[in-house]
Amino acid sequence: MSLTLVQWLRTSRLPPLEARVLLSHVLQASPAWVVAHDETVLDEAMKHRLDALAERRRRGEPVAYLVGEKEFWGMVFKVTPEVLIPRPDTETLIETALRYIPKGQEMRVLDLGTGSGAIAIAIACERPQVRLWAADVSSAALRVAEENATRLLQQDAARITWCRSDWFAAIPLPRGESERFSVIVSNPPYIAAADAHLDEGDVRFEPRGALVGGASGWEALQTIVQQAPAYLRTGGVLLMEHGYDQGEVTRTLLRNAGLTQCETVRDLAGVPRVTSGVYAP
Ligand code: GLN
Repeated sequence: MSLTLVQWLRTSRLPPLEARVLLSHVLQASPAWVVAHDETVLDEAMKHRLDALAERRRRGEPVAYLVGEKEFWGMVFKVTPEVLIPRPDTETLIETALRYIPKGQEMRVLDLGTGSGAIAIAIACERPQVRLWAADVSSAALRVAEENATRLLQQDAARITWCRSDWFAAIPLPRGESERFSVIVSNPPYIAAADAHLDEGDVRFEPRGALVGGASGWEALQTIVQQAPAYLRTGGVLLMEHGYDQGEVTRTLLRNAGLTQCETVRDLAGVPRVTSGVYAP
C-alpha cells in the first residue's frame, strides 16, 4: 500500500522533527518542501529506504550519522561515525576564541583534536587573515575535516594545514617566536571512562576516543595544558572546552602549567564550559 509523506511520518514512530529530517534526506528536498508537500505519495524504493533509516534511528543511531551531516555555525558539515557530531556547546568555544583573534590581525591558530574540522573551519570563516593548523590522531577524521574545508572554504581551505598528531606529539616545535601560536583551541575528550552518560543517547555511537578523557575525564585536558607553553607566543592564549564540573580543575591545571588570567566562560545553558589561560612567562 502506498503512503503519503504525512502518513509515513505518522507511522514512523519517530518524533516528527526527526522523521522530517529523514524525509528531506531521502527525497533530497528542503525541510520546508517536505512540510508543504506532505500529500506527495512515496514510491516503494523511497519508502524502503525510509523504513530502514527509521528502524536504525529507533535503535538509537544519531540522526546526524544517518543523514551524514550536521548543521553547525551556520554551515552544513559532513559527519561520519569517525567524528564527534558538532554540538551547540562548542559555539561558546568559538565565540570565546574569536575574542582573542582581532579582525584583520594576522596570527597562527592551532586546533587540537579537530574531528570534523568544525572549529578550525568556523574560525577560518570568521577571520580570513589567520593561518590555521588542525590536528587529529585519527586519519579518518582528518579526511572528513579536509573534505569539509574544501567544500565550505573552497580555495581558502589552503589556509588550514592538517596534521595527524596525538595532541602535540607530531606538531613541530616552534623554532622562534614567529612560529609560535597566538591561540590554541581544543574540544578534547573530557568524559570520565566510567560515566554512565556514555551508555545513553547519541554518544553510544560516537567515537570513544573523542569522548573519554581517561579515568578522571581530564587526562587529555592535562596533556594539552602541560605541553601548550612550548607552542604559545608570549601573550598567547589556550582555550579548552570541558565538562560542566571541570572549570575548577581546568583552571588549576592551567595555573600549575604557569598560565595566567585563567577564566571560565559559561555556555548558553549557563554551564561552565570553556576555560582559558594566557601564556605570560
Ligand atoms: N559535550 C559532549 C557530551 O557531553 C562531550 C564532548 C567531548 O568529550 N568533547 O556529549
